[in-house]
Amino acid sequence: MAVARTVLLTGSNRGIGLELVKQLLGSPRPPAWIFATCRDPDGPRAQELRDLASKHPNLVLVKLDVENPSAITDAAKVLEGKLNGMGLNLLINNAGIYTPTASLDTVDAEDMVRTYKTNAVGPMLMAQAFLPLLKKAAQDSKEKGLSCSKAAIINISTILGSIKKTPDSFFHPVISYRCSKAALNMLTMCQALTYKEAGILCVALHPGWVKTDMGTQEADLTVDTSVRGLLSVLPILSEKHSGTLLNWEGKAIPW
Ligand code: NDP
Repeated sequence: MAVARTVLLTGSNRGIGLELVKQLLGSPRPPAWIFATCRDPDGPRAQELRDLASKHPNLVLVKLDVENPSAITDAAKVLEGKLNGMGLNLLINNAGIYTPTASLDTVDAEDMVRTYKTNAVGPMLMAQAFLPLLKKAAQDSKEKGLSCSKAAIINISTILGSIKKTPDSFFHPVISYRCSKAALNMLTMCQALTYKEAGILCVALHPGWVKTDMGTQEADLTVDTSVRGLLSVLPILSEKHSGTLLNWEGKAIPW
């Protein structure tokens, strides 16, 4: 079975988001629709995505800046039109930003607010806007319990947002990033508790330390390995995982 019949991703023009699109397209049972959103689908930074869309009719590019609430509601309307009565099975909140130099000495209000807006407020608004389509997918599914193939919100988080794990990695403080992702983790738990009744699974996933623009070339994992891991975790997720943080190998990380 496909991971999900209909999938939407944010931040899909580079890094982990782009690789998720590539591997979903290349999977033995690709989704019927992949809505790959990014800030500027017509710009030079989305060339690879446009090349993929020209070869794959099930890939639709949608303009979406997660910092912009009206762009989010506009994108939800675009999807509603394309889906034509079908629901959205899987929302992957992947877009994120990171200030590598933000220590307690240097971080400022502007960086804290900007990072929080993208990494925590964006995923919250995305879930609100796409909730009717996620609910529709859950209602239309004959599957029991919770799953990504039925209806799910996957928030791409990080171990750096785990309060319990902070002492192990605090040599790299990244205050604005940690605080925004700790908020995303809390959001995931609140979503899991609230959306359970509607049949929607909500999980936070840590992709590992990955060689992307954000992770740098020093990172442990290639983007291929991380995304292969993430895509093998998605089909095993069920209600027991809703409201948890797991890594790319499916291992639980304490909040
Ligand atoms: P990259 O920096 O390589 O890519 C970030 C993506 O997010 C880009 O597509 C970027 O688009 C997009 N983005 C940023 N801001 C916005 C916005 N306001 N609206 C829409 N899209 C936006 O990062 P990664 O691929 O490495 O990271 C993806 C996710 O994985 C993030 O949430 C990150 O926190 C998480 N993560 C990454 C780790 C790593 O080691 N790489 C480790 C742990 C977690 P644009 O091109 O327009 O800037």
